[in-house]
Amino acid sequence: STVRPETTGEAPEDVLHRVFGYESFRLLQGDIIREVVSGGDALVLMPTGGGKSLCYQVPALVRTGTAVVISPLIALMQDQVAALTELGVKAAFLNSTMDFHQAQETENALMTGELDLLYCAPERLIQPRTLNLLKDASLSLFAIDEAHCVSQWGHDFRSDYLELSRLASEFPGVPRIALTATADERTRKEIAERLSLTQARHFISSFDRPNIQYRIAPKTNANKQLLDFIAAEHSGDCGIVYCLSRNKVDATAKLLQKQGYNALPYHAGLDSNTRSRHQERFLREDGVIIVATIAFGMGIDKPDVRFVAHLDLPKSLEAYYQETGRAGRDGNPSTAWMVYGLQDVIKLRQMLEASQGNDHFKRVERQKLDAMLGLCEVTQCRRQVLLRYFGDTLDQPCGNCDTCLNPPETWDGKVAVQKALSCVFRTGQRFGVTYLIDVLRGSENERILQSGHQAVSTYGIGQELSANEWKSVFRQLVANGYLRADPEGYGALQLTEECRALLKGEVAIELRKDPVQKAGKSRGTAS
Ligand code: ADP
Ligand code: ZN
Repeated sequence: STVRPETTGEAPEDVLHRVFGYESFRLLQGDIIREVVSGGDALVLMPTGGGKSLCYQVPALVRTGTAVVISPLIALMQDQVAALTELGVKAAFLNSTMDFHQAQETENALMTGELDLLYCAPERLIQPRTLNLLKDASLSLFAIDEAHCVSQWGHDFRSDYLELSRLASEFPGVPRIALTATADERTRKEIAERLSLTQARHFISSFDRPNIQYRIAPKTNANKQLLDFIAAEHSGDCGIVYCLSRNKVDATAKLLQKQGYNALPYHAGLDSNTRSRHQERFLREDGVIIVATIAFGMGIDKPDVRFVAHLDLPKSLEAYYQETGRAGRDGNPSTAWMVYGLQDVIKLRQMLEASQGNDHFKRVERQKLDAMLGLCEVTQCRRQVLLRYFGDTLDQPCGNCDTCLNPPETWDGKVAVQKALSCVFRTGQRFGVTYLIDVLRGSENERILQSGHQAVSTYGIGQELSANEWKSVFRQLVANGYLRADPEGYGALQLTEECRALLKGEVAIELRKDPVQKAGKSRGTAS
């Protein structure tokens, strides 16, 4: 950072105490804030609830001028402005919900230097009129919230975000901080490139939520499983139950009410009065269980949610992590509980195939769903697998997930794994799961014959397993880091460094008995 700091002279810690009333910074907050205060750029990766807002709110108050916060979520923007105003901070927003007069008032406040923070929707910011205004104003920093929206691989892509790279050239010397809760390494690189943040320091905080116990079980009788779980461990607790469909939300809420629980449904099919009444009760009363579709949760910050239950499989690990992350914000023991079945997978695949979006997008989504299934099927610590997906590591098994507490039934996968890995290798690490399985099972499809892969040594050597069983093997190899999806997102599987010893047969590998399979099929030896 070559820019000389322009600050009020107040220390960040003092602002934290005086304005926000908090004791100390969490984890990386202090480092991030110092970087931005001194004029440097920053890319911040922090889990939901980790405390991203303070990372730009404190520098906004320490540096002179107005901080411009770019946020795509109008409701959150309004909440934050209201909360800041209550703390005595001069904050305002510009977005499409305001009329001309309101907008002009905010613009005047900006020009006369009365604002500490200005929240702005991206489409508004990139209008020439807004950019010109900002050039005449005195700015302290730009904060780009939900920065993963710039990524075309992600499901939140917004084309307006691409324009934000102009901030670098048009406002040299104004520090920029980009923040996101969802970004694997590929997305992180993409954010840095597309937002011209190549000089930015990266701050990646741990994704571990040690007080959350992760548990995933195959679905047998989902309703009974849910009732047993709540009765045994969380009777009287506040919790969230996620279902995929509105009908199931309604039915599950009724089921819980019948058992005497204070359960309330929440989904987009309810009128907005009912929705906000249920949300209010969840926030204010003790022991309310909200049964919801994923429409519920954005911006919900209730510290004492003791459990999050999934009756259906989320479509990605990002979604799973975000939804389960609503449990235990206060740091006390909490449970992330899920049951899943083959039907879930089929339904999600159908929704995916029927969705808008090009082949490339669908391929990436398919990989994400496979990673989610991979987590369900691992034999190792679930937390280690979950954290690895987000580029984070945990050296030891956590001791606080179901696979740590009750090691699952496994089979000796050594031979199958060698076949799978050498098939990836022999076909040049250019193909996806379906193709690889076709080769292993000796299918005579056109593509195989065209590429001459009926001649490779792994052709047809995998007939002892069904296609579904092979899928499970491949998912577990990906989940355990032996295979990875190609970084370009074409769906090809590639070998990682870790699989060398496996390929040579030097190490043993235990695979989980595929819980999605119907019972009664024998395969390998159970240990
Ligand atoms: P995120 O945007 O990362 O999801 P928020 O910025 O909304 O998270 O913060 C989550 C919660 O943690 C908020 O209630 C916030 O007030 C609180 N919080 C953040 N930083 C601190 C801190 N240093 N000390 C105490 N509470 C904090
Ligand atoms: Zn564990």
